Amino acid sequence: MTEQIDLAFDREHLWHPYTSMTQPLTTFKVKRAFGSTIELEDGRQLIDGMSSWWCAIHGYNHPELNRAVTEQLDSMAHIMFGGLTHRPAIELGRLLLEITPPSLDKIFYADSGSVAVEVALKMAVQYWTAQGKTEKTNFITTRSGYHGDTWNAMSVCDPVTGMHQVFGSSLARRYFVSAPKTAFDQEWNPADIAELAQSLAEHHQQVAAMIIEPIVQGAGGMRFYHPEYLRQAKLLCEQYDVLLIFDEIATGFGRTGKLFAWEHAQVEPDIMCIGKGLTGGYMTLSATLTTKHVAEMISQGEAGVFMHGPTFMANPLACAVAVKSTQLLLEQDWQANIQRIQQQLEQHLTPLANLAWVQDVRVLGAIGVVELKHAVDMQSLQQEFVQRGIWVRPFGKLVYVMPPYVITAAELNTLLQQLAEVVTGMQGASA
Ligand code: PMP
Repeated sequence: MTEQIDLAFDREHLWHPYTSMTQPLTTFKVKRAFGSTIELEDGRQLIDGMSSWWCAIHGYNHPELNRAVTEQLDSMAHIMFGGLTHRPAIELGRLLLEITPPSLDKIFYADSGSVAVEVALKMAVQYWTAQGKTEKTNFITTRSGYHGDTWNAMSVCDPVTGMHQVFGSSLARRYFVSAPKTAFDQEWNPADIAELAQSLAEHHQQVAAMIIEPIVQGAGGMRFYHPEYLRQAKLLCEQYDVLLIFDEIATGFGRTGKLFAWEHAQVEPDIMCIGKGLTGGYMTLSATLTTKHVAEMISQGEAGVFMHGPTFMANPLACAVAVKSTQLLLEQDWQANIQRIQQQLEQHLTPLANLAWVQDVRVLGAIGVVELKHAVDMQSLQQEFVQRGIWVRPFGKLVYVMPPYVITAAELNTLLQQLAEVVTGMQGASA
């Protein structure tokens, strides 16, 4: 009974992501989660295929991550970062500099992925204004990108699948070029970079930076593109005096088979955003990293400082759990583990490509994507997945999984078998 009352309250008063308040989608009440299991209030157990949108890389309720939070809690949950500092922030900084591109040297902690992107864009503008280039305030990006839901992050999201129509002229107008076409494992097509070259030639005087998700375009379409695109983009950015920002918020911490996706191309950005898996999904925390050169230029400008400073900057609880989560990842053979997940994803998902209603199947690291020819009915598909004991949340034409790295072979087998059965049985619904 309380169960029903709670769900009715939720439906009536709580806004969920991208959801109508008058016709909300069904929500399932979670009692607890552990490892790769999500347990609903009614006792049903679901195998998690989503890692809570990329972030719960070590699964849920991990004893060592729990301990990192409670130990930190005993000394302080939070303290302002203005004028004060603390061990978790310093330890995390040391760790991050070891695992991110060697040229990155300065770290700005922020509170979510979207804010990390705002910070990156602001850094780029301050970098140029500090040099008197006050006209370099715009950005260039590819279509099919996704960078977050705050204003400027939204402005560089795909203008069609993103939220541009809804917000119209209130959104700043950016320069867009086609999404990279050559797939990750295809032969590189040099024509792929032509549009970026042309747009930069035309607009570079107004452009502060190019922002892109390296290798994997996530929420904008789950597309995996060729590393050569990044190498060419880097050369063009250098040629035209445009900073390069990598948004590694989704791709970071091993998800694509490399610790960070830039490693597939060996191209270092001027600014890089990380988040999501940073805390193993425990707390919201992100970081924007940049080079000594960019930081020094910003600091020499008229403002003399970087103009950002969130209340919860470098929150000690979040930093402490991020340190532990990163250590946990680094001290295991994570590459072999991602490889294991990748092989299982390939084995179960590749045969689905033969179905007439499937457009494409692709796997990279611990990401498996089935792209259909028609958009799915998320509401009914979600229900079916839950009835079958798995947690998969499709969107648009995409049914995809990115499980926690702790998922066992048996759990992953069940997850993928159930998913494959649902996709196989879709014919009528998707026609
Ligand atoms: N950039 C990328 C590539 C993302 O995938 C996301 C989140 N889906 C964001 C930015 C925004 O992060 P957040 O939701 O934490 O604001």
